[in-house]
Order: sequence, then structure tokens, then C-alpha cells
Amino acid sequence: MKVLIVGAGPAGSYLAYLLARRDPRIELRIVEQNPADSTFGFGVVFSDRALEFLRDDDELTYELIAPRMQRWHDLSIHHRGERIAIDGIGFAAIGRLELLRLLHRRLHAVRVEPEYRCAIDDRRALDGYDLVVGADGLNSFVRSGREREFGTRIDHLRNRFAWFGTTRRFDTLSQTFVSNARGTFNAHHYRYAPEMSTFIVECDPDTWQRAGFAAMDEPATKAYCERVFADTLDGHPLVANKSIWRQFPKVWNEHWHAGNHVLIGDALHTAHFSIGSGTRLAFEDAIALDRSLAAHPDSVPDALAAFEAQRKPIVRKLVDAANASADWYEHFAEHMRHDPWDLAWHYIQRSGRVDLERLRRVSPLFVAGYEQHAKGEA
Ligand SMILES: Cc1cc2nc3c(=O)[nH]c(=O)nc-3n(C[C@H](O)[C@H](O)[C@H](O)COP(=O)(O)OP(=O)(O)OC[C@H]3O[C@@H](n4cnc5c(N)ncnc54)[C@H](O)[C@@H]3O)c2cc1C
Repeated sequence: MKVLIVGAGPAGSYLAYLLARRDPRIELRIVEQNPADSTFGFGVVFSDRALEFLRDDDELTYELIAPRMQRWHDLSIHHRGERIAIDGIGFAAIGRLELLRLLHRRLHAVRVEPEYRCAIDDRRALDGYDLVVGADGLNSFVRSGREREFGTRIDHLRNRFAWFGTTRRFDTLSQTFVSNARGTFNAHHYRYAPEMSTFIVECDPDTWQRAGFAAMDEPATKAYCERVFADTLDGHPLVANKSIWRQFPKVWNEHWHAGNHVLIGDALHTAHFSIGSGTRLAFEDAIALDRSLAAHPDSVPDALAAFEAQRKPIVRKLVDAANASADWYEHFAEHMRHDPWDLAWHYIQRSGRVDLERLRRVSPLFVAGYEQHAKGEA
């Protein structure tokens, strides 16, 4: 079987590894438009069980990546100068570049090398394969021009965000809410390496206009955000890497394959970064697609139909939770009218997935603190 994978991000790289590991007879080509070692963004978090989903089937990759992750068990909300700790909400994080390097080491071990600096920009380049996998991210070329067949829907959130790093080490995944004369800002920050943290700044469209970000270049934007979050950064600088303002696109495809083309990862669906699941979904798509291909070795159409039928309901549930969380952020300025305890209480329930009894089990200290506060004792 001849397979072309477009994109060597987490989804494409991991699929290439799984295919080559399972069946070395597959003629596999994986192409990547960027040079090796070039990537956007800083760290990515994996919620609660981190990479446990890899452990059963792929101990080697798990053992390679898991020890390099930063881990913590609490989440912190900072509002009006107060810190509310939410215990029991564990996360693990790793630099995006480091994750890709480790994945590419696994690829090397099964004798697959991505073709770097190879951008697919002509549909004819997709001909001649039994299977073409669009693992080419948000602005997928494989998807483009076939939106009707895929049933593609892309809705942009209204808020703007810019993805920075910082040398300040944070002890937990933290959400900081601040305001100035121009409006309200949120930062979503956590450590992803011993000396580096991710720092995503978000604001609503009115704040963005009033702050004058439209007329600022990257250094001016960085300097402004450093001033807004001066207390949080505690003298550390922000670090920029293509840290332009963007509006998060909610991507969904009703049909996951068209002919012998199939989408995985961000090309197929996005999950707002506030629930830390996009990369995990990309991995899990790769696992599901590999399994479907293994179960239907003689029929690509059957394999693709099985992939969609089995995986779509699971992904839809998670994407719905991510969209609910994204919607909470779209209104974070209103939530900031609450005092710190109430803000934290609303925050933790934002995806609609947390029931009180479960929260009491997972975060007993936080729930006890909140109940005291509600009785007027805290
Ligand atoms: C601000 C922000 C924060 C995030 N934080 C987290 C987080 O904390 N946790 C988490 O799990 N996820 C997070 N995500 C989401 C995560 O980055 C994505 O879900 C994940 O990278 C998806 O992997 P992918 O392989 O599908 O796509 P990508 O990582 O986008 O990889 C696609 C690859 O395809 C290549 N490509 C594109 N077009 C072509 C072409 N025509 N030819 C050749 N190559 C091409 C690209 O260069 C890229 O390398 C965040 C996203 C954002 C925007």
C-alpha cells in the first residue's frame, strides 16, 4: 500500500510511526513544509492522565516522552490579587518542539524520515497513492477545495490570543485575570520545561481595540503584555515566537474522509487550548486510524468508514466540552465581576462536565473552601 501523510506535526508523525512499526511493507511518505526543528508555540499540556493512553500499546514512546514532562496536581486561579488553589486537577506539560523531536526519534527507529521543506501546494501531488492523510493542521491543504465533501465548518472565536513563553517558572497551571484602563486580560500559564513556561495572553475584541494592538508590532505587543502582567511575571520577560494575535478557529468536519483522502488532528477538528486536549486528540486519531487500517487490510474505504464510525462520537464529546470551555473564555470579562472564590467556582464547571459529587471527591480542599466562603466564613 502506498501512503502519503501531509504534515509532520504530532498527528502525522505518530501515524507514520505506527504504520511503519506495524507493517514495514507499507510504502510510506511523510512530507513537512517546515525545516526540521522549526515550530510555533511553546509548551503544550496534557490533562490529568497525560500520556497514559499510550502506555498499553506503545510503552517505548511512553517511556521516552513521559519522564521529560513537567507535572503538577493543582490548578491556581489568580484574581484581584488573591490565589485560589483547586486541588486534584493534574496536568503534565512538554515543549512542543521537544515533543516533535522525540516523535521524530521514534520515526527514525522505524526507518522513516520526514521530507522537510516540502510543502504540498498542488493537488496533483496527492495523486498516485492508495491513501492520503491530511495531518496538515488548521489550514489543511488536503481539506481545501473539498470542504463540501468533508462538510467542513470553521467558526472563529471573537477573543484574541497571543502565544508567548516566559522564563518565569510557575508551580501550577495558572489562570490570571487582570484589568487596566483599556479593559480585561487573561493569561493561561504553566511550566513546560525546568526553566520555561507557556504564557498565553487573551483579551476580548473591545479591549484589543482600545489597547491599540492593531497598530503594534510583535515587540510592542510583547512589551504591552509584560506591563499588563508585570506582577505575574515578577521581572521575567515574555519570549516571542511568531506571537501574533489570533482568533481561535473551531474546526469541525462532518465527514472524515472523501475518496481515499482522510483527515486527522487539527485538520479534522480543533479543541480550544483551555482544556489541553488538541495534541492528545491528534495522537488518538493516529492510533484509531492505524487500528482501522489493520482491521481492514484489503479495503481502504472500509477502514476509513470504520475509523469515522468508531472515533467520531468520542471526539464529538470532547470537542463539545472544549467549545463550552471556549465559550466561558469568550465571556471572561463578565466572570471577573465575581469575587475570586466565585470566579474559581464558575471556572471549574465551565465545560459542563463536572458534577458536584465528583468535584468533591477530586478537589476536596477547594470544595470545602468554597462552601466556607459561601457561608460567609472564608
Ligand atoms: C495557543 C494554543 C495553545 C495550545 N495548547 C495546547 C495544549 O496545551 N495542549 C494540547 O494538547 N494542545 C494544545 N494546542 C493544540 C495543538 O497545538 C494542536 O491540537 C496539535 O498541534 C495538532 O497536531 P496536528 O499534527 O494535527 O497539527 P499541527 O501541529 O498543526 O501540525 C501540522 C503540520 O503540517 C504541516 N503542514 C501544513 N500544511 C502543509 C503542507 N501543505 N505541506 C506540508 N506540510 C504541511 C505544518 O507545518 C505542521 O508541521 C494549542 C493550540 C494553540 C493555538
